[in-house]
Amino acid sequence: MIPGTFVIRQATWRAELAAAISAPEELLETLELPANLLPEARRAHALFPVRVPWPYLQRMTPGDPFDPLLRQVLPLGIEEAIVPGFGTDPVGDLAAHVATGVLHKYEGRVLLTATGACAIHCRYCFRRHFPYAEANAARNHWRDALAHVAQDQSLSEVILSGGDPLTLGDEKLAEFVHALKELRHIKRLRFHTRVPVVVPSRVTPELLALLQSSPVPVAMVLHINHAQEIDEAVQEACARLAAARVLLLNQAVLLAGVNDDSESLVALSERLFASGILPYYLHMLDRVQGAAHFAVDEGRAVRLVEVLRTRLPGYLVPRLVREEIAAPAKVPLTVKVGGIGRCG
Ligand SMILES: *Cc1c(COP(=O)(O)O)cnc(C)c1O
Ligand code: SF4
Repeated sequence: MIPGTFVIRQATWRAELAAAISAPEELLETLELPANLLPEARRAHALFPVRVPWPYLQRMTPGDPFDPLLRQVLPLGIEEAIVPGFGTDPVGDLAAHVATGVLHKYEGRVLLTATGACAIHCRYCFRRHFPYAEANAARNHWRDALAHVAQDQSLSEVILSGGDPLTLGDEKLAEFVHALKELRHIKRLRFHTRVPVVVPSRVTPELLALLQSSPVPVAMVLHINHAQEIDEAVQEACARLAAARVLLLNQAVLLAGVNDDSESLVALSERLFASGILPYYLHMLDRVQGAAHFAVDEGRAVRLVEVLRTRLPGYLVPRLVREEIAAPAKVPLTVKVGGIGRCG
């Protein structure tokens, strides 16, 4: 390989991360949106800053304030509303925090908040209030996280989450992947990430080589809410990941005004399959302050998924789940037939 090519590829994704739009004025101007949205956008930006990388922004339709990708990142005045039942730690993360950046809620798997950084800021995110900076598992060469995983033989899977773990550099990730060789009880490595979707240039040959060097099989759970989020660059990144034997799954959040209709959800599943990704979870919105306007009623959510069941093969129907504090797993939502719960 020519020595220079590595540097250039590194520069591409890092530059794309760094160049993300981070000011509400720039977002509105670039997308040719009405300037009267600006005062409220500025106020919401003060609550949770705007962040939109260009490769993602380019998939939006200029001039359309209801574009389903824009809705996910556009700061709105309605985020200031204090709505009963919508809090700052809706999923009990603070209680599950057992070591620096280590969330242990479910048997056998542990989730590391590897970094506080995200490539994109999603307005509905339940981590918009999470103390990212303090809960950073990659600090000190992952020392606390690795020590926790090493001493708990009940674990079989480690999930790198965040923030977004793929905002970390390859060297940082390599420290963790290589440390797994010493942790013989760990059988699976999983990433929860939106980076291959919003900055697909992150999927470099160096990252692929690193994933292939993992001593255990790797799963990657992407986060895609709408079919339009998948363009050719995303499809190519997914094809490279699949060729590196990474299992690709998707988790989406059911969001009012983004994907809360059966046409959007069918199109999403079909586009995921065409990209080598299987739907995994469809999450009910976590009840986080500032995101109440995205909420979809549970009855309607269940009916939407029933429509998906009639229109798609079972393997393209995501599991509709809700996160509950202190529950031993994500809680599935199912149809009630004559008052009796039906499983699946
Ligand atoms: C969602 C989550 C997991 C993973 O759950 P799966 O059902 O295995 O996908 C693990 N730990 C935490 C803290 C989680 O929030
Ligand atoms: S953690 Fe995921 S959903 Fe939340 S802001 Fe980051 S990329 Fe978006």
